[in-house]
Amino acid sequence: MKNYSIAIDGPAGAGKSTIAKAVSKQLSFIYVDTGAMYRAMALFVLRSNIDPSDSEAIKGVYDGVDIKIDYIDKEQQIYLNGENVTSTIRREEVGNVASIVSKHLIVREKLVELQQKIASNTSVVMDGRDIGTVVLPNADLKVYLTASADERARRRYLDLKEKGIDEDIEKIKADIIARDEQDMNRENSPLSKAEDAIMIDSSKMSIDEVVTEILRLFKDRI
Ligand code: C5P
Repeated sequence: MKNYSIAIDGPAGAGKSTIAKAVSKQLSFIYVDTGAMYRAMALFVLRSNIDPSDSEAIKGVYDGVDIKIDYIDKEQQIYLNGENVTSTIRREEVGNVASIVSKHLIVREKLVELQQKIASNTSVVMDGRDIGTVVLPNADLKVYLTASADERARRRYLDLKEKGIDEDIEKIKADIIARDEQDMNRENSPLSKAEDAIMIDSSKMSIDEVVTEILRLFKDRI
């Protein structure tokens, strides 16, 4: 049977993971959160006390990093050297370091290989920054999901609040803009819309509307 793939790229806080998860559930595909892999690498770097922007230092520890994913009740779990770090990597600090660590070619090559291997075995909805452009250039459907910085900050603020964390919304917005800048302007695989990706601006759309639109686009394609 053919393996299908849907690539969802976009900036931080655009709702990629929520949408990708819902789409994968509807289609019974596997959801692959590639950001989690960069976050696991970032956690390793944080714990090793090395400078995340120093590619030579990363090269030095690189062979000791083993990142794997698995699924428990259809939820992606991420393992760093055998330890399940799925919750630990969600911290803001880890996301910010992930954005620095992900600039290095050596890091990207390792993780892209893992991502391509997963997609070669099964049907996937994969989200990230370079899925449509680099990881799955032949994806059956490519979506570039975005929303205004204000809306993305508002959503993240509400998310954190729900978890009992009270962050300043202006600080969240500044972090989001800084992360966009970094991800869009790096040399290796910058965040960009693949030529053949469909742009969806979810600023004024509900989750259900975005999911329905992606399912419709996918059904149109196949
Ligand atoms: O999506 P998430 O916020 O978890 O990703 C964390 C960071 O990992 C991003 O800011 C980005 O720098 C990096 N990333 C990447 N390529 C991907 C997924 C994430 O460079 N495919």
